[in-house]
Amino acid sequence: MNIDLRSDTFTKPSPAMLEAMFTARVGDDVFGEDPTVNDLESLAANMFQMEEALFCPSGTMTNQIAIKCHTQPGQEVICEKLSHVYIYEGGGIAFNSNCQVKTIEGDQGRITSNNVKAAINPDDVHKASTGLVSLENTANRGGGSCYDFEEILKIKECCLENKLPLHLDGARLWNAMVAKGENAKQYGEVFDSISICLSKGLGTPVGSLLLGKKDFIKKARRIRKVFGGGMRQAGYLAAAGIYALENNIQRLEQDHRHTKQIAAALSKKDFVGTILPVETNILIFELKGRFTAKDFEMELAKSGIYTIAISPTQIRMVTHLDVTEQMITQLISFIEAL
Ligand SMILES: *Cc1c(COP(=O)(O)O)cnc(C)c1O
Repeated sequence: MNIDLRSDTFTKPSPAMLEAMFTARVGDDVFGEDPTVNDLESLAANMFQMEEALFCPSGTMTNQIAIKCHTQPGQEVICEKLSHVYIYEGGGIAFNSNCQVKTIEGDQGRITSNNVKAAINPDDVHKASTGLVSLENTANRGGGSCYDFEEILKIKECCLENKLPLHLDGARLWNAMVAKGENAKQYGEVFDSISICLSKGLGTPVGSLLLGKKDFIKKARRIRKVFGGGMRQAGYLAAAGIYALENNIQRLEQDHRHTKQIAAALSKKDFVGTILPVETNILIFELKGRFTAKDFEMELAKSGIYTIAISPTQIRMVTHLDVTEQMITQLISFIEAL
């Protein structure tokens, strides 16, 4: 039995999700006539108590559309130095929005209001004008770390004082909300735009949503078309999203428990160095002594256990809804025997 821990994007739709997809009512969504896409967008907007939502093919697209909507060419975007928007979106901030980035060295992917304050440029012709602050929750390269909501509120205050929009890359926001006992509404109140992924821990094959005010989503819809992201009978995909929002959120707790179990097993091994604190479904740890990260990745792959060496010394493992209790038991025995 293979155990795929490379990412929570490797999930395949369950029979029940497929059934929802096959039986979806559809229309041409570019004409606004796909009832299932419209239902998904309303459902998500309601959960966050935000005015509107826009269904897109990927989280890269929802982030990039948001950045494009919020900024003008030549402006600067403030984000943490390992943010997905900065390091994993193909240089999109420069390519799509003609903006530059001011990176902050945060704590496991999280930044503070003091960091933001210090990063905002003064009104000086030598400097780029600051155009946007972007946060990531959970922080992928921070090992699935979660923000303290109080800090988010302080960052919001700082953005308001400086008239800056605040975007959230919430690819795994559901993981954060489940882990911290938070709700979507509190996020909807604070952020000007939120991107959420349906194809990560929630287990759909495709899709992300961008949330924001009515005018913002109107502009975003235009940019989605320009980016080539207008889809026709997308209701087949949106149906998977509705199924996921209705059925796959609370179960994320299991993934979080599984990740902690793997971390506990690893912590007893002499070839394991620092393990980033586990809060959600991502586990990042260092290898030392016997293994480089690449050696470790290959050693596990020989037994059908797939992980990713994200740096010469670090391995990332991600749990998700296709990783069963039985697989976790098998993996832990394997680690114990190494
Ligand atoms: C996966 C991910 C995204 C979006 O990725 P796509 O593959 O384009 O859907 C955005 N932000 C973070 C933090 C992610 O992990």
